Amino acid sequence: MTQHNDVISTAAMACSSTESNDSFQLYLPQQHCVPLVFDSPHSGMQLPDDFNTQASLQQLQTGWDAFIDELWAPATALGASVMAARVSRMYIDLNRAPDDIAPQMLDGSWPGVLNPTAYSQRGMGLLRQWSLPQMPMYSAPLSVAAVQQRIQRYYQPYHQRLRQLLEQRYQQFGAVWHINCHSMKSRGNAMNIDAGASRADIVVGNRDGQSADGRFTALVVDSFRALGYNVSLNYPYKGGYLTHCFANRNQHRHSIQIEINRQLYMDEANFCRHQGFTGLQQHLLQVSTILADYIRSQPVVKKGKHHD
Ligand SMILES: [Zn+2]
Repeated sequence: MTQHNDVISTAAMACSSTESNDSFQLYLPQQHCVPLVFDSPHSGMQLPDDFNTQASLQQLQTGWDAFIDELWAPATALGASVMAARVSRMYIDLNRAPDDIAPQMLDGSWPGVLNPTAYSQRGMGLLRQWSLPQMPMYSAPLSVAAVQQRIQRYYQPYHQRLRQLLEQRYQQFGAVWHINCHSMKSRGNAMNIDAGASRADIVVGNRDGQSADGRFTALVVDSFRALGYNVSLNYPYKGGYLTHCFANRNQHRHSIQIEINRQLYMDEANFCRHQGFTGLQQHLLQVSTILADYIRSQPVVKKGKHHD
């Protein structure tokens, strides 16, 4: 398996330090820190040894937000932080609640209450039930112990570090902006709410206005539109679990989700970058620059020794 997470642009590396473990890689700015944190929960493609799936590699790759961490990573040069999952979301989905499990996925009783949501009903809860429509991931239910181990080893470290990082930025600056980064197929399949429809270039989600200030959301939308992209707001993606987790507008904690159409930067059939990759990466750095400037200009943001 290609360790694409280990590949990062030289420009970004020059301005960042890296934390790495089984669960995530985290690129931290070394200077001009700004309370802007990107996270990419689906761009990992590591497949742990105990992943006893019957899905093919190609089926697993359909759920991969390929290269999304790499596309956003240059923002570390602006003072932002970028966190990226290492493990495949087909193994455990970090953008779900830890109790969003369909009971039939397990071979025993869970030591606690399960709360399967609509994601689980579509086979896309914490544990994936189907790799693609009608294609089961597993030939038998999973043991409770195996699922607990996935949570402890991969899910909890990601969530704990992301929460800690956002809290550090919040304590330092009095406000924080979180951007949850994804890519999407150019057309939804039967497991998606917009099955069959072709999608916008960019989908921005703020949970119908709940998770981020309207001015910030509008700035994100307008920045992409000014670069020529067509942008949809809150459809077909309005923001998932991580966006929900970290938002509190009254406390100046803003969280939005950005979905990028894969056909802008990659060959969707062969899971490799195409010639659009570099141009998109440059556009994302332009958008990130606008957002970082906006954040620095906000009266609520404390001006400290870390602020230039
Ligand atoms: Zn995703």
